[in-house]
Amino acid sequence: MHEHTPIQEDVYDAIIVGARIAGAATAALLARQGARVLLLDRARFPATTVSCPIFFGNSLAVLDRIGALAAVEAIGAPKIRSYGTRTPDFDLVTRLPESNGYDYAYSIRRDVLDDAILQTVIQHPNITLREGFTVSGLVQSEGRVVGVRGRAGSSATETILADAVIGADGKRSVVARLVEASDYDRVSGQTAIYYAYYRDFAPLHEPSALIYADPRTQKGVLVFDADSGLTVVSAGVAAGDFETAKRDPEGTLEQLWRAVPELAERGKHATRATPVMGQAPMDSYYRQSFGPGWALVGDAGMYLDPITGQGINNALTAAELFAEAWGKTRRRASWMNAMAEYQRRRDAATRPIYNLVALGTQAQQMSWMGDLGVDLGTPIFKAIARQPATVQQYIGIFNGATPVSSFFNPLNLTRIMVRSVVAG
Ligand SMILES: Cc1cc2nc3c(=O)[nH]c(=O)nc-3n(C[C@H](O)[C@H](O)[C@H](O)COP(=O)(O)OP(=O)(O)OC[C@H]3O[C@@H](n4cnc5c(N)ncnc54)[C@H](O)[C@@H]3O)c2cc1C
Repeated sequence: MHEHTPIQEDVYDAIIVGARIAGAATAALLARQGARVLLLDRARFPATTVSCPIFFGNSLAVLDRIGALAAVEAIGAPKIRSYGTRTPDFDLVTRLPESNGYDYAYSIRRDVLDDAILQTVIQHPNITLREGFTVSGLVQSEGRVVGVRGRAGSSATETILADAVIGADGKRSVVARLVEASDYDRVSGQTAIYYAYYRDFAPLHEPSALIYADPRTQKGVLVFDADSGLTVVSAGVAAGDFETAKRDPEGTLEQLWRAVPELAERGKHATRATPVMGQAPMDSYYRQSFGPGWALVGDAGMYLDPITGQGINNALTAAELFAEAWGKTRRRASWMNAMAEYQRRRDAATRPIYNLVALGTQAQQMSWMGDLGVDLGTPIFKAIARQPATVQQYIGIFNGATPVSSFFNPLNLTRIMVRSVVAG
């Protein structure tokens, strides 16, 4: 039973639950179309969340389109231009190819990044932000979602009405749960992740984000130059080792990265600046992302193993496609038709990388091996590594410069092998 307080006037076109990447971007794009948006989040910003992201040119372009890029640039994080995978036998490391006009990536702590985006977005007069507000229920009328129930802290439950409710509330989306949205194309997670930010980790000659992977030991460690002089170090733990690892996350992380000779050297004066955070192995999924009066964006609507750093871009892509569909509903398209198109376009845009990463990691058991979900031990990667232009094309898959299908097709892979053999 809810303790009911007066129902607020229906002054909002949209209530968005969740105010981080997906929610803030969606709010910006709807407000720009004249929608009156209520943005709710149980967190108070700046607030951290479990994520140690890198994001690339394709995401920078969307941040620019929502007007938040200047605020992100102002954080002053190092521009990462050197990216790739380093193995004991060969490197797939290159300068990032240009993607959407950007030849760099950023790794910025989520409390800093999300706050910079949010503070910019809420400058729009059509957006009202309520922090510290937890949504616990949906209001339905005649088979349609017409609002939310929730409360700020320990105050009384409020009911707030709107034309539509959008769940941008992450993997454990309460909106998805309340509408009983079903998943599809689920792929089981194979890897737990632990990470922490360090000070005084020796940089390379230029800002970099490298994956140190060893096909023989099936271990992988990611090291990204982050904001504020910090370096984020993360390590994958195979699902089978997770029970042991979770008894000692600090020891597990330290032991994994210090076992890589180059990292032991780079990190010999490093001190940990944050607690070790992490996530148990987590399935990738798509989720039914619309219904009468509701929709899902970001991780609420689809989630991909974070190994290749696609979550932020997938969330921003979904926000843009959702906002286009929203525009159609304002021009009298039916909600259900416009939203079905949103989901179709989101899936089409994200499917190639989803299949490459989620299915690849499942096949391989140990996602960190390839930065790619493909076995680094196979001859094709040695062949790629010998051809600098091909390494750059390959790396371009992860920042949106190279369509997956233009690289991973039989003709291209054969060409790469032949060139490698001819070169001796
Ligand atoms: C370990 C790890 C590493 C990652 N690394 C990368 C990377 O390198 N690059 C990359 O692009 N992505 C990475 N990701 C993925 C990325 O973090 C997500 O894809 C991204 O955060 C999705 O954003 P979102 O806005 O959809 O959801 P979230 O960031 O999860 O935000 C959801 C928001 O909803 C709010 N909320 C939830 N429930 C309620 C409620 N009931 N009421 C009110 N508010 C609510 C939460 O407080 C939260 O603020 C990583 C993820 C993990 C776990």
